[in-house]
Amino acid sequence: MTSTTSRTYRPAFPIWCAGCGHYGVQSALQAALRQLNAPDHDVVILAGIGCSGTIQNNLGTYGYHAQHGRVLPAATGLALSNPSLTVVAAGGDGDGYAIGVGHLVHAFRRDVSFTYIVMNNETYGLTKGQHSPTRAFEYPSHAEAPLDAVAMGLSIGSTSFVARGYSGWYDQLVRLTTAALLHAREKRGFAFLEVISPCVTYQDSYPRWEHALCDVDADASYDPTDRAAALALTLEVQKRGQLPTGLIYRAPAGARAVYPAPAQSELRSAALTTRYEEIMDGYAVAVDLQ
Ligand code: SF4
Repeated sequence: MTSTTSRTYRPAFPIWCAGCGHYGVQSALQAALRQLNAPDHDVVILAGIGCSGTIQNNLGTYGYHAQHGRVLPAATGLALSNPSLTVVAAGGDGDGYAIGVGHLVHAFRRDVSFTYIVMNNETYGLTKGQHSPTRAFEYPSHAEAPLDAVAMGLSIGSTSFVARGYSGWYDQLVRLTTAALLHAREKRGFAFLEVISPCVTYQDSYPRWEHALCDVDADASYDPTDRAAALALTLEVQKRGQLPTGLIYRAPAGARAVYPAPAQSELRSAALTTRYEEIMDGYAVAVDLQ
């Protein structure tokens, strides 16, 4: 391979519009990483395409910008191949719930230990405001119901962590982000955190969500370890035109088997490493030809 000059990476300044909900998400993630004393070199943020996907440019951790809708396969591979890392996938609802939704279903099924933060603003912000799958919409001929990924996750038997925050409720969002990261770091499974993160430019939903979020954390009698009850509550709240927020479900400690060691040893086999190096050398030749 040809030699290259290495440079120290410096985090970028966010490119988001003033008032975008994603500032709250980034700030909560930074606070959670600080609380967990996670050094930058042990953290990898993998991001999808869209305004939200630029979050990985803004932090001093390792980063990876995946193809559209493909952040979960990359994060799954990384979490399996190096379980000592804190792996965080992040993206928007357009990226994760449309082109990427098939991967989300299987991430819940596989329950590999990493965190996925989805910034839900009911819109494709980067491509100028088209409707995303989370927005209810009425056409002249028919109506489309919004996709609720929390309900979808709760309907899958192996799901181990589901939470929803709001970028306008900072303290709770820091708590939820910290809990999600801890769940994954303790190898308790896939930690799914959706954040209602309004797009002030194309679909300003702050005024609506301020009054339409139902905070389960405020109810002392709510039991977040009961998946069936969590799903029933989510559907009930949905009927009222609201969304539940807070720690909605976390499987009790020990409820899940840790994924088998052979998966890691296979991924680290000498044959795979050699093949990987051959592929990377092929890219280097292709670059040299240009
Ligand atoms: Fe945020 Fe919307 Fe601006 Fe994108 S277009 S940065 S989602 S406010």
